[in-house]
Amino acid sequence: MTLLVLRDANQPVKQLQVSKPLVIAVPLLAILSISGLIISLQVQSSQTISRLEQQIRNQELRFEAVVTDKNAAIERLQNEVIALSGQSREVMDRMERVSELETELQQFIKKYGGQEGLRNLSSLSYEEPETLGVGGEFIAVHENEIERLAAVTREQFAEMSSLLDEMERNIPNTLKKARQTQHSISGTPSEWPTLSKRLTSNFGYRRDPFSGRASFHAGIDIAGRTGDPVYAAGAGKVITTAKDGSHGKYIVVEHPGGLQTWYLHLSQIGVSTGDSVKKGQEIGSLGSTGRSTGPHLHFEIVKQGEPVDPLPYLK
Ligand SMILES: [Zn+2]
Repeated sequence: MTLLVLRDANQPVKQLQVSKPLVIAVPLLAILSISGLIISLQVQSSQTISRLEQQIRNQELRFEAVVTDKNAAIERLQNEVIALSGQSREVMDRMERVSELETELQQFIKKYGGQEGLRNLSSLSYEEPETLGVGGEFIAVHENEIERLAAVTREQFAEMSSLLDEMERNIPNTLKKARQTQHSISGTPSEWPTLSKRLTSNFGYRRDPFSGRASFHAGIDIAGRTGDPVYAAGAGKVITTAKDGSHGKYIVVEHPGGLQTWYLHLSQIGVSTGDSVKKGQEIGSLGSTGRSTGPHLHFEIVKQGEPVDPLPYLK
């Protein structure tokens, strides 16, 4: 085959002798190499794309896992806040009940002990938190609601702490007063009836200080100074205040359980028949009236009409 190359009008035509196979082979080779290049580029790019897609999928999975974790954690925390708030409310209620009991105890003491009024714990009040319904349909809790709940719970704990402080300060006092009250209203004659502890005669048979003959001594004699206070050995009711040649000035107090206490040879009587007396209350003064050799208190306990040894009763 002859290839003619026409350039300019002034220039000669060039002739190129080319063999037939070469004319077919050269364009064919060109086409083949170009399409090969295109195909390889396409394959490469599709590989890159699929690799990138795979990476993106992995990333998405990871993010999903993280988000699921976070959601679960938030839900757990929310449930904990709700549970804590419930507990706090419960503890608060119980503390209020305890505080009410303490107030009742104080009122009891005031009524029976006649002590000065104690500070009222129940004056401490707190705001009732909004109650959360139980059951019903599920309603998602918003973050700010949880925050509000947490704030209320924090306040409740602060309130509880101050209530506890108050109780800690007051209860020992109340307990002390309760003990005093219990002691003063106790009808069992156990209080030593005067200041002096000097026993000059015991309960039982003895030589009579006047006649010198054997006789029965129905009580104990406690030597003291004229004017020393004489105390009621237990709470009770004064049933006799009188004076005679044998007993001198004397007082009889009746106690629960069929017990009586007798106080003899007094210089002064400080109560009247019908009076109620507390344990340890001053009821008269020690003296030497009646059949007595010197200032002393004859103290006697009578049980169901029979004198008994007072010493086992007294502390
Ligand atoms: Zn006596």
